[in-house]
Amino acid sequence: MTEAKISCRNLWKLYGAGADEFLKQHSGKPSTEALRAGNYVSAVRDVSLDIMPGQILVVMGLSGSGKSTLLRCLARLVEPTAGEVIFEGQNLLKATEAEMIELRRHKMGMVFQNFALLPHRTVLENVAFPLQVQGMNRRQREDRAREVVELVGLKGRESYYPRQLSGGQQQRVGIARSLAVGPDVWFLDEPFSALDPLIRREMQDEFLRLQQMLSKTIVFITHDFGEAIRVADRIAIMKDGLVEQLGTAEELVTCPATPYVAEFTREISRDQFLSVSSAMTPAKGRRPLDGAIKLQARLVDVARQVLSSDDPVDVVDDNGLLVGALSRPAVINALYGKELCP
Ligand code: ADP
Ligand code: MG
Repeated sequence: MTEAKISCRNLWKLYGAGADEFLKQHSGKPSTEALRAGNYVSAVRDVSLDIMPGQILVVMGLSGSGKSTLLRCLARLVEPTAGEVIFEGQNLLKATEAEMIELRRHKMGMVFQNFALLPHRTVLENVAFPLQVQGMNRRQREDRAREVVELVGLKGRESYYPRQLSGGQQQRVGIARSLAVGPDVWFLDEPFSALDPLIRREMQDEFLRLQQMLSKTIVFITHDFGEAIRVADRIAIMKDGLVEQLGTAEELVTCPATPYVAEFTREISRDQFLSVSSAMTPAKGRRPLDGAIKLQARLVDVARQVLSSDDPVDVVDDNGLLVGALSRPAVINALYGKELCP
C-alpha cells in the first residue's frame, strides 16, 4: 500500500485560555457541552484524514467551519492543540521551527483567496520571491520564474505590476509563485472565491490542466460544492470544526451522512455522478454476453441500452472480464429512487 503524503490524526485546534489542559482533563474528547461551558471555539475538532500522493482533497464548509484552520494546522502555520500531523512519514508537531521553515520553503506551496501579492514588485519578482527567500541567485531564480510565469499563461506580462492585472491574472501570479519552488504539497485556500463566475470556471480548468502536468498532492478549500465537484478526488465536509463526512462527490450526493451534508448536495443531480458500478449486482465466472457495458461508464450514458433490454446487461471491467449485471429496475432506482446508501 502506498503511504499517505500527508495525514492528520485526532487533530484539534481549540481557541480559548488553557486549551491544552482542558483537552487533557477531558481525555482528549470533550463533549460539545463541555466545550461550550468552557467558552472554547473548536476550530478543528478531532480530525483524522489521509491524503495520498497526487490526490486532491477538497475541504468544504460554510464560513467559520474551520477549513482555513485545518489547512494551516497541516502546514503548522497554526499550532494544533493536540493530535498528529504526518508529512512523508514525519510527525510535524515534533519538528523544530527551523525544520518547519525549511519544509515550507521547499516542499509546500500556498495560494490564498486575496492573492497576497507584493504590490511594488513586478510579476516576475513576485514569482521569484520564494526562490529569493531560499537564497537562489538572481539569474537562476528569474529563469525559473519565467518558466512558471509561462506555465500559468502570463508570458509577456513579466514586468507588469499587480495593479495592472485583472483579478484572474493576479491569481495566476499567486499560483505561479506557489509553484516556483516545485512544492510536493499544494495548499489552496479558496483560491478562486474572489473571482467572477466565468473567470472562476476558467481558473478551475487552468488548475486542472496544471495538475494533470504536475500531479501535486493537494488540499483545496472552497465553500462552493460545484467547484468541489469539478476539482476533487475526495471531499471533506466540515461543520463546527468537525469533518461530517469524507468521500467522493458521488458518495456525498447519493448517501449524505448528515442533514448538513444533504443540504450542501441538495441542488446537485445525482445522475451526473452515478457510475454503473454503484447500481449493478455483482456477478462472475462466465463469459460476458454481447453488448456488455463498462464498469466505469456513467449510468446516464448506458441507461437507454439497459432500459430497453428485458434482461439485465452484463458489466465488464477494463480487461473485459465479467464483474456484474445491471437490470432495468436497478437503473430506475439508482436514478430516481430515494435511498442508495449501502
Ligand atoms: P473557515 O476558514 O471555515 O471560514 P476558520 O478556520 O477561519 O473557518 O475559523 C474557524 C473558527 O475558528 C471560527 O469560529 C473562527 O472565528 C475561529 N478562529 C479562527 N482563528 C481564530 C483566532 N486566532 N482566535 C480565535 N478564534 C479563531
Ligand atoms: Mg477560511
